[in-house]
Amino acid sequence: MWDSLSLKEIVDHAKDPYPSIRQWVKDTGKRAVGSTFADVPEEVIYAFGFLPVTLMGTNRPLKEAPSHLPDNACSLARSNLELVLSYEGDIFDGYVLPQVCDTTQHLSDIWRINFPDKYVESYLAPRQADRPSARYWVKEEIERIIASLSKWSGKMITDNDLNEAIKVHNENKMLLKEIYDIKKKNPAALTNKELFAMMKLSQQVDKLEFNKSLKKIKDSLKAENGKGYTDIVLVGITCDPPEIYDLFDEIKLNIVGDTLLVGTRYIQGVVNTGGNPIDALTERHFKRGFFTPIHDDVYRNYEEVKALYQETKAEAVVYVHIEFCESQEYDLPDLKNMIKQEGIPIHVLDTEYQTLSLSHVRTRLQAFFESLKGGSL
Ligand code: SF4
Repeated sequence: MWDSLSLKEIVDHAKDPYPSIRQWVKDTGKRAVGSTFADVPEEVIYAFGFLPVTLMGTNRPLKEAPSHLPDNACSLARSNLELVLSYEGDIFDGYVLPQVCDTTQHLSDIWRINFPDKYVESYLAPRQADRPSARYWVKEEIERIIASLSKWSGKMITDNDLNEAIKVHNENKMLLKEIYDIKKKNPAALTNKELFAMMKLSQQVDKLEFNKSLKKIKDSLKAENGKGYTDIVLVGITCDPPEIYDLFDEIKLNIVGDTLLVGTRYIQGVVNTGGNPIDALTERHFKRGFFTPIHDDVYRNYEEVKALYQETKAEAVVYVHIEFCESQEYDLPDLKNMIKQEGIPIHVLDTEYQTLSLSHVRTRLQAFFESLKGGSL
């Protein structure tokens, strides 16, 4: 189903992956297990023979979620709850929900109450990753998730099952990295929207199949430098609605580095092979880049963004802020100040999953890059 997709089909599926996931579940008889961002070890879910699907909200209207979550809960949390309550919940037999911020901490109980007939498990990622106990904690959590999925499914998994799942997931990330590297140097080879659609869809469909599509696309890409592109670094968690990438493409911005969970932070999740797979999955948790609700060093966000800007020789940083994301709202004022003090141009894009019109985003983005060219920032 996902093994010979064209670029256009990938963009379409990334916009709405659920019809094909529903069909896949029907055809294969396998179960789909949904997760929200971030850091649930999807290899573990895959090793059980289930399809791990990262839920990334919906742009459709909010009907049910507002009666469960307050208006100032983040746009992503509200949108994800709506997705399963009103639109796509029938696809999933269960959910593994990470708790990474105050919003997600309360959210898992709301899901548990609303889906009494489904499997609902929490994944408690440590938020202070520099504590000596953090490694022990992550390993215990992975083992607890394995035991929980075993109990639910009546299946046991072996190290071999985990190693096979890790192999498929690693291949996916390495293919994405190769395609991204081509695009960085050849901005006209594919659009930002196409690249980030691949990143997104990779976290939602069967990678054993999808890797075949990625391989074909990678081999077909041509070196196309293009002219008039402005290299930028994209910072944040996600970038939705996907039409924002259309705006980037329209004004010829080339994303040469990012910190997104639907981007580089996903690719950074390649797991070491050859040793104990649970130890390797545990180690992976600590080698990914900064994610706003998880802290080990208060300056890490700033240091990473600055290093990325310098390494890529980008011309500006674009920060994607999700409406009412409390974690971003703590970090952003300091990050913005420190980045500006370095003389790095930064533009903050405010996003909301239910946004219908991007005209205000377009106007502000265009104004920012025009003033950048004029040197008046
Ligand atoms: S980290 Fe931000 S966007 Fe993610 S669930 Fe928490 S508040 Fe929402």
